[in-house]
Amino acid sequence: MKKTAIILASGTGSRFGSELPKQFCTINGKSILEYSVEAFEFHNDIDEIIIVSNPLFIDKTKEILNKNNYKKIIDVLPGGKTRQESSYIGISAVKDSDSVVLIHDAVRPFVSSRIIDDCFEALKIHKAVNVAIQSSDTIVQIDENNIIKSIPKRKTLRRCQTPQCFDYKIIKKAHELALADNAKDITDDCGLILKYNLADIYTVTGSENNIKITYPIDLEIAKLILKNKEA
Ligand code: C5P
Repeated sequence: MKKTAIILASGTGSRFGSELPKQFCTINGKSILEYSVEAFEFHNDIDEIIIVSNPLFIDKTKEILNKNNYKKIIDVLPGGKTRQESSYIGISAVKDSDSVVLIHDAVRPFVSSRIIDDCFEALKIHKAVNVAIQSSDTIVQIDENNIIKSIPKRKTLRRCQTPQCFDYKIIKKAHELALADNAKDITDDCGLILKYNLADIYTVTGSENNIKITYPIDLEIAKLILKNKEA
């Protein structure tokens, strides 16, 4: 069984407010993209890596990856307009249908080998696995007029991270059903599994360090996380 990491790096970073997508920002001379790729490149259980790049920056992406001479990257593909499209492009490039796939946001540079280990352990039992952490904030559901409609019990809530990990056949089927349905409003892969009720989705515990670089402040937080790791 092949273990394939799919790294999604086709975002434009519109919330980040810079010309250059955030995966290219550097900390200590290394780009966010390289930190994310290396988490999988240097994990013993990962066999191969597929990168889904922003089409406008595919040359830059390849240049960064080639410079490092990574051994596990089998494809660098132009991504789609939405995360869902990019994810399907990555999944479609997997050749062995007996694979498990770990779909990861390129903008989460600090996914740990402990998290990846726990995902593989959970995949021995479950066909869909998500990484999540507890929420320290109360989370409310609002309507279009900003009126609170419900306040779910905090202890039942989790904040999702990545990787999201699947038996290949299940996640491929979920995307095919979504395509046939023209379903476009799902922000992550587990959302598709849930929508079509294809498997129970087990959650493994993520980490506060596994942040998603989204806003400029996140880059400052990332620098602190790295400093703490080195200390
Ligand atoms: O937009 P969001 O924060 O959900 O993006 C999460 C990840 O999905 C990022 O790593 C981004 O590069 C990727 N993405 C993608 N293709 C898109 C949009 C987002 O690969 N069209």
